[in-house]
Amino acid sequence: MKIQETLPINKRYGSLQRVAPGVIGLPTLIVNVYFVGDQSGWVLVDAGMPRFAGTIRKAAEQCFGLGTRPQAIVLTHGHFDHVGSLESLLKVWDVPVYAHKLEMPYLTGMSHYPPPDPTVGGGAMALMSKIFPTKPINLGSRVRTLTGELPEMPGWQIIHTPGHAPGHVSFFRKRDAVLIAGDAFVTTKQESFWSVVTRKKEINGPPAYFTQDWIAARQSVEHLADLEPSVVATGHGLPMRGEKMRHDLRHLAQYFQEEAVPSQGRYVNRPAVFNETGVDYIPPPNASQLPKILAGVGIAALAGAGLYALIKYNQKRNELKPMGTRTVYYDPEPPHYRTDKPSTHIPRVRRITRPEY
Ligand SMILES: [Zn+2]
Ligand SMILES: [Zn+2]
Repeated sequence: MKIQETLPINKRYGSLQRVAPGVIGLPTLIVNVYFVGDQSGWVLVDAGMPRFAGTIRKAAEQCFGLGTRPQAIVLTHGHFDHVGSLESLLKVWDVPVYAHKLEMPYLTGMSHYPPPDPTVGGGAMALMSKIFPTKPINLGSRVRTLTGELPEMPGWQIIHTPGHAPGHVSFFRKRDAVLIAGDAFVTTKQESFWSVVTRKKEINGPPAYFTQDWIAARQSVEHLADLEPSVVATGHGLPMRGEKMRHDLRHLAQYFQEEAVPSQGRYVNRPAVFNETGVDYIPPPNASQLPKILAGVGIAALAGAGLYALIKYNQKRNELKPMGTRTVYYDPEPPHYRTDKPSTHIPRVRRITRPEY
């Protein structure tokens, strides 16, 4: 059975993404946050890029009503693009933040993350990573350690999926096999400027420039592939669903070395080592790659400006859709997920002006 739903368009920054019942995604430039729950109670998974607090709050109000606030904010991990708007949100939303104990050093001002690795190849985003921040934020006592299931997320398993970050976690709802995977793997080629701009959907390993333990990353992907998810929502890229997605995820797990691990890179042969106070060991940089990196930084700076302009252009196009709404067809099984297509071949459709949660 197909269900037609009409989701509100976020006028400034693009459309909300229907992932599954009770799960809605919102892109913040190049990274997604997720609203999980309904009007009676919901949590925010991740906090997006800096300067998107207003966008996140407005989108939440579109979904759950004016003045809404989450019961908690839960972090897949603490990289700058997943906590960028967190401190601004907390000024308005006085709610607890949860993260895995191995992410605590980067959320309480104790430790920088290891430096990104711009030598991994794959495109301009990787080169640009040279300038990505690794500095911790300091939430003090507002951040709490995730232990087992979270009462604010009933029915969701919390799975430790390290490799991309030491305390990286994913969320799995067993009832309908919905997986929020953070950056354990992603649905776009995040190293590539062009893939990020066009949001081309493909199952890929974790963003390579920020992955410092490839053995753990592989084990995490194997674990998630074994779950046989019906739909995956990741930190970067659009949601994907159905048998082809599952096939591609199994393939990624099976051929992780060939498909995801860079042929060269600072952390490829020797991982960084972490403990509960932060980074314990960082392998030395690959000196032979330095000239290439410096040459790439100029290109990356231009690509960064272009990325921002193109994303703004895409958002502008979204705004032109009539009545500020987008029609989304959602068919859990078999896989079928389209937007803005005529509904003539759909036998029964139900048009609503607001999504049901
Ligand atoms: Zn990350
Ligand atoms: Zn990320």
